[in-house]
Order: sequence, then structure tokens, then C-alpha cells
Amino acid sequence: MTTTMPVEDTGPQVLQRLFDSQATTALALRSSTARERVAKLQRLRDALLERREALYAAFAADLRKPPLEVDLTELLPVVDEARHAIAHLAGWMKPRRVRPTLTTLGTRARVLYQPRGRCLIIGPWNYPVNTLLGPLVSALAAGNAVILKPSEFTPHVNAVVAELMAVLFDPAEVALVPGGVATAQHLLALPFDHVFFTGSPAVGKIVMAAAAQHLTSVTLELGGKSPVIVDASADLRRAAELVLWGKFTNGGQTCVAPDHVYVHRSVQARFVQLCQQILAERYGATDAAVRASPDLARMVTRRHAERLGALIDDALARGATLLAGGAHHADERYVAPTLLGNVPADARISGEEIFGPVLPIEPYDELQDVIDRINAQPKPLALYLFSRHRPTQARVTGQTSSGGICLNHCVQQYAHGGLPFGGVNQSGIGNAHGLYGFKAFSHERACLAAGPFTVVRLFFAPYTGLRQWLSATLVKALRWM
Ligand code: NAD
Repeated sequence: MTTTMPVEDTGPQVLQRLFDSQATTALALRSSTARERVAKLQRLRDALLERREALYAAFAADLRKPPLEVDLTELLPVVDEARHAIAHLAGWMKPRRVRPTLTTLGTRARVLYQPRGRCLIIGPWNYPVNTLLGPLVSALAAGNAVILKPSEFTPHVNAVVAELMAVLFDPAEVALVPGGVATAQHLLALPFDHVFFTGSPAVGKIVMAAAAQHLTSVTLELGGKSPVIVDASADLRRAAELVLWGKFTNGGQTCVAPDHVYVHRSVQARFVQLCQQILAERYGATDAAVRASPDLARMVTRRHAERLGALIDDALARGATLLAGGAHHADERYVAPTLLGNVPADARISGEEIFGPVLPIEPYDELQDVIDRINAQPKPLALYLFSRHRPTQARVTGQTSSGGICLNHCVQQYAHGGLPFGGVNQSGIGNAHGLYGFKAFSHERACLAAGPFTVVRLFFAPYTGLRQWLSATLVKALRWM
């Protein structure tokens, strides 16, 4: 199995020169047209698809990711993001007219969507194409110059993406810089106009603190523990099929993957049985068969596999029940799809984002207890509810908060280009995808133009009695209008 090689960091002088070289381009891009930007997106989309075979091989080396998952979770989202932007960009770029308010009568107002300028996109390792090039589509649609910093843990995929960028773009417009933490920190010391970061909440705080030094705006796409609720009215087979799909795709290394399940006690046994049966059907009935399955991605590094193995062992040592899987072999970066029951609250797995193929399943009696527990935790990126009971859907939606909520489905809230994708507080700040991604990389600039008549003339000094009466009347009258 290919192992991850250390990646050399890019030095601060090289980064400074690159950053400086993008200044002129960023100014020129301010007046780029929709047609020019669409042409770039088309070239990006086509060149990406031409590298499909190279990407299959690179993903096999970095994550042993099945080609179908490369298609569905890496290429499709980027191609769809580009398709959506190409179809809508001319409309998104149009200045939006705003009617005058009472106090601005006689003026003409518009909102202009201008590029932010020079943007930094920092990516994680778990979806190294999707999380780097998806935001790039939005950044290009909005007319920016961009520096991309992928994660150091996916060197084979990064090599394909770096070659793609070098063929498509002048580095003064889009450049990919390889490197790890040191490179990211050198980049974050530069006064970018926007930083779009995808990664862990812990590093998100570091990114935001660095951006604050320049008052650079940020989009933070983070993670967290996304819960699933399965109530007694749910279609249990459908719930089990979808939850396991969302959980075990990409070896569970998905920001919106279900982290753990709360299932109503009356249907717990049946739900667990269905999960066990579906796991065996999908990946094999014996440990040897599962280990040999070509459809299970591996953990990205030995260290990540060890972390997950330790989470499983810790939970079992504290009294959790093994419902399926449990095997882990760090030298193969392998962790079996694992179901756990009776996980105690003090187990490490109950406190940290699992981010791997391990699913704790816990019974509940009262829905309110589950709602209270969710509200006592950091707000998750996603919340999944399987229930056919409309009032329950309304109650859970209304009484909880999360980046997105998905009813009787799994992960698909991410796939809808017309919906904002992002977290809330601890799971993220700002949104990606479609119009929301375009806006993340745009400055919404207020533009007001005077007409022939202006109301404020009535209130120039000297403040005569008439003018004071007029202003007092206006203030009082506004409440009735
Ligand atoms: P990470 O935060 O460790 O790393 C992300 C990026 O930050 C990498 O490029 C890395 O080089 C850089 N980085 C790491 N430490 C840094 C530091 N101290 N200073 C500056 N930069 C630093 O995240 P990861 O392990 O690559 O990815 C997993 C996390 O990403 C999970 O929490 C997951 O939920 C989240 N994620 C979120 C989304 C989303 O869209 N919301 C998508 C994918 C992953």
C-alpha cells in the first residue's frame, strides 16, 4: 500500500512574491465579464473530467477510494457546481435594484457584486478535489485571483490538481501551493481579501485569529458531531440504508456523515438488526471478506487509523457493546465498519468528532431528552431526522440548531446547489454552493445615486423652528408607515 510522504513546505518569500503577483490580476478581474468567467469554468470542468483516470489512480494511492466514490463525491459535486454557476452567473452578477425607502426618496439604489480580490482557499484531506475545486468554482465565478493550499495528506491527488491548475491558469491568477501547517501559516500572515477554509473547528479558530490581524473576511466550513434521530414512526429499513450509506462512504471521513444515532427504544432492536444485515450485504459477512472489500476506503494515514482504533478500544474497555466490526489494522490503514451500543458518556468517542467508520447507536425514551442533549452540545454541521410524523419533524426542526437539517434522507442537503451549505458557530461561519458560494467570494457593495431632488436639503442648518418641527414629525410619522 502506498504511504503518505511528507510534503515540503513553500517558503514565505515565494508565497509573498506569488501574492504580490496576483495584485494586478485581481484589479483587472474586477471588470471581467460573465462570458469570460463562464469560459474559465467550462475549461476547468472539461480539464478536470479529462483527468478522471489519473484521479482514480491518485485516490487509490491516497485513500484507496473506490472509483465510484471518486465519481460521486469528488467529480460530480465540482462538475455540478460549475454547471450551476455557468447557468446562473450572468443573473448573479447583475446589479440588484433596490427601491428607495421613505427617507431616501428621490435616490436610485443598487447592490453591486464585486470580486473580493485575492482569495485564499485552504482544503482538508478528506475530499481533496471537492473541497478545493468546489470553492474555486465560486471564487472564479465571482471574479477573484486565488491561491489554493490543499492538505498535505493527499500528495497523489494534489499532484494531479496542481498539474491541472498549471495547465489552465497563469499563477498570477490561480496558483496551487503545496505544503503543510507551516505553509498555511505563512499564507495566513498575508493580507488576503478573503479566506475560505475547510477543516476542523480547532484549526478554524487559528485561521480566524490569523485573518483578524488583517480584518480579512472568512468562510469557515468546519465539522462536528452530526446526530441522527430515528423515531418509532420511521421507515426503519430506509433509515438504516441511508444512514449507513452516509456513514461508510469514504470510510466515514465525511464532514456531514452521521456521527451517532439516537433510536427510539421500541424500535432499537429492529434498527440494529437491519444495520447489521445491510453491512453484511454491502461489504461482506466475515471480517476477512470486509477487509478484502474493494468498496471500503482506507483511513488517510496510519495515525488516523490508530486514532480510530483507539476510540473503538477505549469505548469497549469502558463497557460499550460491539454490534458489528471492531477490527482495525493501522499498518493497512484499515478500520472495519463498526457499530457500537451502550457507549458510556465518558468514552472518548462520545466527546470528539468520530470522522471514521464507527457508528454508536443509542436508545432513547423521550424525544425531549434527545433535543436537550443536542442543544447542550456545540451546534452540529448536520442533523438527520427519520420520522414519518409531521409534528415531530416540525418540533425537532424548530427546537434545535445545526448548519443544515435533513429529514428522512442523508447527506443530500449538501448536494442541492440551490441550498446554502455551511455550519453555524462551532460547525462553521458563512456558506458555500451556488449563489451562496458566489456571494461568499463577492463584496456586496451598496451603490446609491442621487436623483434631481433630495429630502436631506430640508434638514440643513440653520435648524429653524420649521425644520425642527419637520424632523420631529417625520420621526413620529415613521411608526405609522
Ligand atoms: P485540519 O483542520 O486538520 O486541516 C485542514 C487544513 O488546515 C489543511 O490544509 C492543513 O494543512 C491546515 N492546517 C492544519 N493545522 C493548521 C494550523 N495549525 N494552522 C494553519 N493551518 C493548518 O482538517 P483535516 O483533518 O484536513 O479535515 C478534517 C476536518 O475537516 C473535519 O473536522 C471535518 O469535519 C472538516 N471538514 C469540513 C467540511 C465542510 O465542508 N464543512 C468538509 C470536509 C471536512
